[in-house]
Amino acid sequence: MATEKLDFGADVSRLLEIVAHALYSNRDVFLRELISNASDACDKLRYEAIKTPELTGDSGNLQIRIYKDTDYRALHVADNGIGMNKDELIDNLGTIAKSGTKALMEQVKATKKDDEKLSLIGQFGVGFYASFMVADKVEVISKKAGDKDCWHWESDGKTGFEVRKAKKDEAARLIGDQGTAIILHINADSSEYLIDDMLKKVIQDYSDHIDFPIYLGAPDEVDDEEQPVNSATALWAKSPQDCTQEQYNEFYKHIGHAMDEPLHTIHWRAEGVIEYSALLYLPTLRPWDLYDPSRKHAVKLYVKRVFIADDCEGLIYPWLRFMRGVIDSQDLPLNISREMLQHNPVVSKIRNGVAKRVLKEINKLAEDNKQSFEAFWAQFGSVLKEGLYDAVEHREDLLKAVRFYSTHQDGELTSLADYVERMKDGQDEIYYISGENLETLKNSPQLEGFKSRGLEVLFFTDTIDDFWLQSVPDYKDKKFKSATKGDIALDKFDTDDTKNEKDDKKQDDKNESKPKGSKKFLSTIQELLTEDVSNVRYSNRLTDSPVCLIADEAAVDLRMERVLKIHQQYQPETKRILEINPDHPLIKKMTDWAEKTDANHAELDNAAHLLLDQARIIQGEPVPDPARFAKTLSTFMERGIAA
Ligand code: ADP
Repeated sequence: MATEKLDFGADVSRLLEIVAHALYSNRDVFLRELISNASDACDKLRYEAIKTPELTGDSGNLQIRIYKDTDYRALHVADNGIGMNKDELIDNLGTIAKSGTKALMEQVKATKKDDEKLSLIGQFGVGFYASFMVADKVEVISKKAGDKDCWHWESDGKTGFEVRKAKKDEAARLIGDQGTAIILHINADSSEYLIDDMLKKVIQDYSDHIDFPIYLGAPDEVDDEEQPVNSATALWAKSPQDCTQEQYNEFYKHIGHAMDEPLHTIHWRAEGVIEYSALLYLPTLRPWDLYDPSRKHAVKLYVKRVFIADDCEGLIYPWLRFMRGVIDSQDLPLNISREMLQHNPVVSKIRNGVAKRVLKEINKLAEDNKQSFEAFWAQFGSVLKEGLYDAVEHREDLLKAVRFYSTHQDGELTSLADYVERMKDGQDEIYYISGENLETLKNSPQLEGFKSRGLEVLFFTDTIDDFWLQSVPDYKDKKFKSATKGDIALDKFDTDDTKNEKDDKKQDDKNESKPKGSKKFLSTIQELLTEDVSNVRYSNRLTDSPVCLIADEAAVDLRMERVLKIHQQYQPETKRILEINPDHPLIKKMTDWAEKTDANHAELDNAAHLLLDQARIIQGEPVPDPARFAKTLSTFMERGIAA
């Protein structure tokens, strides 16, 4: 029988050279490559058979069969897919037809470092040639669907290959009506691939969701009870209409090794410039390591239904790292190295497509199922907010999703849109106050002036809030404005009191309103506290409390300073502004007393510091000189009790 000897194309020779030097630290991937090719071949036949049903011959049941022939140390990977004719064997397994191969190979040649070479090749994909990592000889027996002849291809993976017509008995033994059998003569270093348990593990690790059954065992050993090694259902590849919530839930547990039920399932297929299927879940419970900086996301990447990576970097934005599930790309090369994945433009396109879709779903959940949304928000809201400074292109959708507690209604979350809806006439800023503890925030003296004017203030209780605010200064052209920072033009809004005053004024036009407080008192206090605060001024923020602290407009906000201090990124202490409530009875008394008390300066100094310490305590900050504070307080109390 005529045997043709042929040389490999130059590209293949170079590729094989690299493969021979162990392309992958993980050699298991050869099996993944061969199974993937087999699955593609089944896919192709399945597709062709739509037009030409007689092509499938015996094979309504397309399948992959893996078995060993220990006598010959041979591993068979066989499929009853589309198969190859002689020309296809020569072309497909003797040359590389991919565009850009030449340029890539030249680049590889020019690259000095081995690991860079490898990652370039990894990006390209070695496919079938990965066989030569574990085999010193490979035979391919193939019969194209619809053809009579069966062909035999053989190579040692060095210089070239031989092709001949397959012997009749060989063909009959290995191939049914059509398909391909790859026979790997396993090399001395790779004996583990002749152990069934090892094969089973590799298949389950990498190819569980190949949607053709994979059997472990020779065709002549088949009995009726035979079960595939893989689960053979790629749930994500199905149409969402064909999936039940039970299946989704089961898959969630399998893929996430999770104990909880998914809170929400998102399953879609993206078509267009890039194609992928995604089956993603919002979990019910926070993973324990959500805030561990080394935590990676838990969305598995498949390429054409073949498992590629557990936590492909760059596939999921860090602020969606709580998601679980699968993304299956049609566009990525199968054996792209993990290191190269994150630089692949397809990956970043998927990342953006996924973020857009997930945010849309989250926003929809907020409309359709408030309870689920709020459960989600309680677990993951603070993580989602990281996206506000991380991903400008998703900012609008994120700003739609964020929720805060506010002074509007106790215990109720509000969206920014709803806040804006409720804004007062003439209000052009979104007021917020930032701090760790919601209950403490609610009682902040700085809010008194807002409350009395019916101005709503948002509570920013997540540490992250102070950080995203740096990059997101406004929402719908309304600036975010801290209630504890700088000047706020509160006086343009009426309180119930000032409204009455104004009404009185209308009636009695001559009655001019006097500026509140005493300038002299302010400058006295200012002088006494000159070491401690940058300024002392009368407040429009206070109604019930005598004093509060405010950050300078240009300075770091109060809470941010505390956060930075904790992380030791912030040393210099900026001085605060002490605001004083001119209407408070204590301040009024102090003012009168100060007028007469020039002589007794020490007492006044103690009183001024007591006021400042009070403001610090309300703010949740330490008193710098507790001994002095306690002593002064005792003295004043004693005197109060005595009087
Ligand atoms: P890739 O799969 O990335 O195209 P490979 O080197 O793995 O690269 O395979 C080259 C080609 O050989 C495939 O595109 C396919 O046309 C053909 N081929 C490989 N394995 C099979 C098979 N089991 N059945 C049919 N054709 C195959």
